[in-house]
Amino acid sequence: MVTLADLRPPRGYDLGVKIILANPRGFCAGVYMAIDVVDQLLEICPEETICVYHEIVHNRHVVDRFRDRGVLFVEDISEAPDGSIVVYSAHGVSPEIRAQTESRELIAVDATCPLVTKVHAEAIRLARKNYHILLIGHADHQEVIGTRGEVPDAITVVESEEHARSLELSTTNPLAYLTQTTLSTDDAEKIIRVLKERFPGIKDPSSNSICYATTNRQRAVRALAPSTELVLVVGSRNSSNSVRLTEIAENVGTPGYLIDDASEMCGDWFKGIGTVLITAGASAPEDLVRAVITRLIDDFGGHVEQHHIDREDVEFGLPGSLKKVMRKRGVDPTGRRIHVNMGDEIDAWLDDQKIPHASVDLTVGRSG
Ligand code: SF4
Repeated sequence: MVTLADLRPPRGYDLGVKIILANPRGFCAGVYMAIDVVDQLLEICPEETICVYHEIVHNRHVVDRFRDRGVLFVEDISEAPDGSIVVYSAHGVSPEIRAQTESRELIAVDATCPLVTKVHAEAIRLARKNYHILLIGHADHQEVIGTRGEVPDAITVVESEEHARSLELSTTNPLAYLTQTTLSTDDAEKIIRVLKERFPGIKDPSSNSICYATTNRQRAVRALAPSTELVLVVGSRNSSNSVRLTEIAENVGTPGYLIDDASEMCGDWFKGIGTVLITAGASAPEDLVRAVITRLIDDFGGHVEQHHIDREDVEFGLPGSLKKVMRKRGVDPTGRRIHVNMGDEIDAWLDDQKIPHASVDLTVGRSG
């Protein structure tokens, strides 16, 4: 373990750009699970049609790679061929979608992140207790559509601080609030403050519904971006948590660019820049981050410092619906687990690429 003060350039150190790699970044436990569910289905059911309802995770490359392997992505259950397997994405679905799958006798495999399922469960529990729920989030996001679908009459979506200020409610029920899992913690706090001013006594969730992965990736950017000159966020534009990381960089005064991959990097951004922070949204594959590092090192030379703000060791098990499919096809799920990479492979890759690198431990927490 090395501290900032201990960092000394190794022999032959290239005085190019200093690349700070934010840790944690990239895949979260829910994304590992959702992707691995589809991987395992492709392995177990090679002759069957595998559909995914909506994008399995919000990343163009992940979706394209599965499409290339024969997975069908559908935006409506009616598009799924008869007899196919339908995977629900990490963002979750409403009961209506589950009912449509069932009525068509399709085989449902639920890859919803357990932390999203927890928000659904809390919404149902609150509605049963007669609460009206203010769900803070983006109305058109799949996760919010799914959560609202659980108890549509008991939920009003609140999208912004301004919306919270102007909200007119006709209900006389007691109020509670919940949040989408991938919001900016700063924005959510502002909205919650307004709701508490306007509706004193509004009930807090039993636990924070912004998930650990969103919180940690944002905390890392908030801590590291102020001492860098430019932030690159690897992620797709429809990835809520990736967009929020870019906004956080901008909010602390550092220009931030959201890029799907290295091909979107623009040479002009780096003129006169000595320090670049790289992070990645929770749905962005690590190989895309490596391609960004390679391009920077090829173009400008330099070295990598990994700055660790949080250590994560969250893992989810195989969904029950996947185990059921396995058993029906004679595959014993015992001993099978979700493939995760806790980030140890980057050092070996940097060594292999002969890129000078060091680790800086700024850990403030551990999630597990
Ligand atoms: S970002 Fe959070 S809620 Fe979404 S899949 Fe990852 S762990 Fe689950």
